[in-house]
Amino acid sequence: MGCRTKRERSQLIRFRYPDADKGRGAWVCKGSKECFLKAISRKGFERTLKVAVPREVLANWSSHFEDTEEVTSASSLY
Ligand SMILES: [Zn+2]
Repeated sequence: MGCRTKRERSQLIRFRYPDADKGRGAWVCKGSKECFLKAISRKGFERTLKVAVPREVLANWSSHFEDTEEVTSASSLY
């Protein structure tokens, strides 16, 4: 979603937001904070999830790119 590269799902990380439609998720390259930030700057999350995502939530999601690349799914946050 951020860099618009086509990748296998195993190389992507999926973010879900409770207010968004069920099953709707935003995909970003796994381990790529750059991709994540690009997605934010393009309002990709809002467009993909069809809801406004609060800053706190985005900040929370961004923490997934700092410590480890072993994170497989951010949906466990919810
Ligand atoms: Zn990407």
